Amino acid sequence: LARLRGRLARSGSPFGARLLQVLSRDHLSEDDWDELEETLLLADVGAGPAGELIDALRTRVRVEGVKDPTAVRAMLREELVRLVDPTLDRTLATTRTVRDDVEVPAVVLVVGVNGTGKTTTVGKLARVLVAEERSVVLGAADTFRAAAADQLQTWGSRVGVPTVRSDKDGADPAAVAFDAVRRGREDAVDVVLVDTAGRLQNKAGLMDELGKIRRVITKEAPLSEVLLVLDATTGQNGLNQARVFGEVAGVTGIVLTKLDGTARGGIVVAVQRELGVPVKLVGLGEGPDDLAPFDVESFVDGLLG
Ligand code: GDP
Repeated sequence: LARLRGRLARSGSPFGARLLQVLSRDHLSEDDWDELEETLLLADVGAGPAGELIDALRTRVRVEGVKDPTAVRAMLREELVRLVDPTLDRTLATTRTVRDDVEVPAVVLVVGVNGTGKTTTVGKLARVLVAEERSVVLGAADTFRAAAADQLQTWGSRVGVPTVRSDKDGADPAAVAFDAVRRGREDAVDVVLVDTAGRLQNKAGLMDELGKIRRVITKEAPLSEVLLVLDATTGQNGLNQARVFGEVAGVTGIVLTKLDGTARGGIVVAVQRELGVPVKLVGLGEGPDDLAPFDVESFVDGLLG
């Protein structure tokens, strides 16, 4: 968590520095409040939430008669924490479940547009689980590009877990997902992580493909999680993606990647509102250890720099 805080502090510092600058003024003018709101917008918090936060903060400053910049800053921190919502359950469901009196693996389906960091996230998550002494099988259901299965298998070898894949290009992704879960059942593993392709050109096609994957998986075991991977650097575009996947995939949690490369961490707020599900994990780099559970307090401290 210290590492998360440090990295976010670095990525978020322009936001924090600007806020600090405004908040160091003794009396906040109308322009100062506008500047604060603009700073929140620039961090991708979204217009609705930014407006709410400013209203709440202004009211508190007035009602409580606060003038000291340090106290205003502390209030801003509290309001940001409230906005990101510490009450959401962010635990990842990765324990074995029971289906027809038989114990079966937890199945985690990972969805999202290509390039957002799905495969990398699956690899990092496998590493986290293995470090917790859980057994894992990877399913390479992104059969659209052979390179995707190779990339996943490389992660599998690196982490020391098997990868179920097809040798044919363009094989049925649902069949691969089914095989992976079957293998997970046979080997009594704890968690099956299924990587998928994310072609957004055609919503109906995506819906069909993800729908079929879901159906065949749930013949073997219940889906424990459907994680949507979003690239934090894509702003509004990421929100549009969230909307589409939210409609077609039954998302239970969000993984926000590439937070190391952006000061726009406010997207966390916008995307949680859009989908009504919490950000559960964040990607903070390309390496195997660069995945962290999302922690509201560290996140807000990072934003404030
Ligand atoms: P996929 O097509 O969705 O499976 O995306 P990949 O897993 O292949 O990732 C696309 C690129 O993003 C790769 O170069 C990854 O190394 C990089 N990437 C993934 N996650 C992160 C992250 O959290 N931070 C940074 N900086 N890069 C990342």
